[in-house]
Amino acid sequence: MKYFSTRGGDQKLSFEETVLTGLAPNGGLYIPEHIPQLPKDWKTKWNTYSFVDLSVAVLSLYISSEEISQEELRTLVQKSYKTFRHPDVTPLVQLDNKRYILELFHGPTFAFKDVALQLLGNLFEFFLLRRNARKAAGELEEKLTVVGATSGDTGSAAIYGLRGKANVSIFILHPKGRVSPIQEAQMTTVTDSNVHNVAVKGTFDDCQDIVKSLFADKAFNAEHRLGAVNSINWARILAQTVYYFLSYFHIQKQLPVGVSVEEIEIQYVVPTGNFGDILAGYYAKRMGLPIGKLAIATNPNDILARFWKSGRYEKVDSDSLPTVDGQTTDTSGVKETFSPAMDILVSSNFERLLWYLAYENAAGASDEEKKTNASQTLDGWMNKVKTDGKIKVPIAVLEAARRDFLAERISDEVTLETIRGHFDAQPSYIADPHTAVGLAAAGIIAANNTPNTYQIVLSTAHPAKFSEAVSRALEGASKFDFDRDVLPAEFRGLLEKERKVIQVDRPEVELVKGVIEKIARSNA
Ligand SMILES: *Cc1c(COP(=O)(O)O)cnc(C)c1O
Repeated sequence: MKYFSTRGGDQKLSFEETVLTGLAPNGGLYIPEHIPQLPKDWKTKWNTYSFVDLSVAVLSLYISSEEISQEELRTLVQKSYKTFRHPDVTPLVQLDNKRYILELFHGPTFAFKDVALQLLGNLFEFFLLRRNARKAAGELEEKLTVVGATSGDTGSAAIYGLRGKANVSIFILHPKGRVSPIQEAQMTTVTDSNVHNVAVKGTFDDCQDIVKSLFADKAFNAEHRLGAVNSINWARILAQTVYYFLSYFHIQKQLPVGVSVEEIEIQYVVPTGNFGDILAGYYAKRMGLPIGKLAIATNPNDILARFWKSGRYEKVDSDSLPTVDGQTTDTSGVKETFSPAMDILVSSNFERLLWYLAYENAAGASDEEKKTNASQTLDGWMNKVKTDGKIKVPIAVLEAARRDFLAERISDEVTLETIRGHFDAQPSYIADPHTAVGLAAAGIIAANNTPNTYQIVLSTAHPAKFSEAVSRALEGASKFDFDRDVLPAEFRGLLEKERKVIQVDRPEVELVKGVIEKIARSNA
């Protein structure tokens, strides 16, 4: 299997090159040459598979065995998911009559990104060790320096994915004092020698600007071989397809007596930001997993929900703009919400779906011709988004998008009400604010569902990770005790543990460069 860029070009990459490169040089995202189809006997053969077995079965459809053999893949996958606390890795929990929750937060940092990043770290290490083993004596070893900025919620998943990995070091910048205490402790109590937390006196935007400047500095980039682990990396999408398969088999076992999975429609509801989690479901469906619609649940950063309504993909909602004096109200920035991991202005992985929609509507006599035309169309759209801040796609494209997806936007107020509602319900369930966005959307969508539709809502974080919103939602609930009901044993005493942090007193790129250079020299 080879991969190519959504924006076209002749470049065809192996899986290894795709994973190590991340973003294509022409600005595109890598997608597989074709979407592999499930083997004929998948339903009977895979139905008793564990998460690890399913990972090997699904991933090997996308990775040539000459690149990673089945045995090597099994070893990598086993190592990646041994760090999860639940034997199912991503267990399916019944919530009520027609609704299930797929819990994706049983990994080391209590959030769904662990599913992908635990594997990504092991893939990096595997590829670099192999490359270095093939080098002649005296030849310089290949190393990777991963750099990223975090406002708190996702930095720890990257750190736990890469800690202790050979030939990889990771620098995560966070705004000093502006990260929640638990999230700061999660990151800075990792004391492995290849993990470097950098506390920058400044804002999250300062941190992000510094990271951007580092990547833009060609000489620095080449010397340190900078790498990113952001959500556009193909391996992350691929790793996430597995729990769609697992939950399909698990719902089969949990349905009421007399109901068969063949007769029902399974609708997945996914709290969405950068479209990575739900895109994995789209691939699973395209491979042949018989599932119904995929429902996008957004917070007030709702560019996706607006796209499905209007066919316009635009940073600023032009319907909400005052038309009297032509002045725009301040709708240009990202809105801060109670579900911060979904606070986005544009949705990076959405480009991959747009490519498939463009392909479906592309002219051309052959697959190759259609692909070229689809990439050209997409390239035009993405350039227009960059220059004009918006595009409107043809109606046929919007209709194709509506065939597989639904979308709903949920306010902060409803998010908190939903946390409270599910806490008070029987059985009681404590949802984190991201999961609550999904649950609220599921409730709205259910009103139009057929009687044989069952919903699976993806739960992306443990409630203890977003304690502020959860505590606010459950304030005054007589039966609620945060320490007893929510706080996991792993978080107890975390705040008192030894920390390892590098302080940077001004938000200046040269200071951060100095930090990275000094550590690189001491490792040389
Ligand atoms: C990253 C994240 C999301 C959004 O996932 P996407 O793949 O970006 O759509 C939702 N919830 C939590 C807790 C996350 O960390």
